[in-house]
Amino acid sequence: MGLLSGKTALITGASKGIGRAIAIKFAQEGARVAFTYLSSVEKADSLEHELLAYNNVEKGFGHATVPKNAMGIKSDAADFKSAEELINKVVEEFGSLDILVNNAGITRDNLLMRMSEENWDEVININLKSCFNTVKAVTRTMMKQKSGSIINITSVVGAKGNAGQSNYAASKAGIIGFTKSVALELGSRNIRCNAVAPGFIETEMTEVLDEKTVQGWRDGIPMKRGGQPEEVADACVFLGSEMSSYISGQVLHVNGAMYT
Ligand code: NAP
Repeated sequence: MGLLSGKTALITGASKGIGRAIAIKFAQEGARVAFTYLSSVEKADSLEHELLAYNNVEKGFGHATVPKNAMGIKSDAADFKSAEELINKVVEEFGSLDILVNNAGITRDNLLMRMSEENWDEVININLKSCFNTVKAVTRTMMKQKSGSIINITSVVGAKGNAGQSNYAASKAGIIGFTKSVALELGSRNIRCNAVAPGFIETEMTEVLDEKTVQGWRDGIPMKRGGQPEEVADACVFLGSEMSSYISGQVLHVNGAMYT
C-alpha cells in the first residue's frame, strides 16, 4: 500500500518539470492521477501512458465505477469557466477528488521599468487566479466528502521577492495569503490547504541556461546544489497524505536552506 492508495488527485500543469514529477510520485504512491497541460501535447500524452501503467484501479479502487487511473486534460489554468469544467470532469470520471495540486505557472521576467501590462496580467492570471479558479470549483466536492488536501505551489521568490520578477513574486506571495485564508475558511470541513515553496529546482527550463550562470546559483545555496523536481514532489506526497493530517495553512519550503 502506498501513502496515497485509495486517493484521487488532480495536478495542474504536469506535462513537464515539477508537475510531471508530482504526477509520477503520486501514481507510485497509489493515487489515481488526473493532470492538465496547455501546449505540450506530446509530453502530456507520454505522461498519461506512463501513469496508466501503474494500474492503480486494481490496487486500490475496486469500487470505481470508471476503471480509469490516469487522465490528461488540456485546460487553461487561467480560465475560470475551464476550471469549473475541469473539476466536474475529474469528479465525474474518478468519482471523487481528494488532492488538488495547483502547480501550473509561468515567468515573464523583466525590470519593472520595462514590464508590460500584458506581462503582469498573464503571470497573475496563470499563477494566482488559477488557484482561485480550481479551489473555488473543488470546494463543493471536498465539503461533501468532508475531506480534502489542497496544495498550492508558490516559490521562495514569493517569500523574499526578486529583482526582475515583481509580477512573479506578487503572484507567488498572493498564493501564500490565499492558502492561509482557505485553510482558515475550510478547516472546520476537514479540508486542509498548504503551500509548497521550491527554491532553485533544476528542470528543463534551467537546462537551457548557461552552465556558468547555473553553477553560480548552485554555489550560492547552502546545500551547494539545485533541487530536483522529485524532491518537491516528495513534499507534495507528504502534504497530500494522512502523514500530514493535522498540518494546514503552512508553507513548506524546499530550497536547500537558500532562504530560512
Ligand atoms: P515548467 O517546467 O515550465 O512547467 C510548467 C507547467 O505548467 C507545464 O506543464 C505547462 O504546460 C503548464 N502551464 C503553463 N501555463 C499553463 C496554463 N495557462 N494552463 C495550464 N497549464 C499551464 O515549470 P516548473 O519549473 O516545473 O514549475 C512548476 C511550478 O513550480 C510553477 O508554479 C513554478 O512557478 C513553481 N516553481 C518552480 C521553480 C523552479 O526552480 N523550477 C522554483 C519555484 C517555484 P504546457 O507546457 O503544456 O503549456
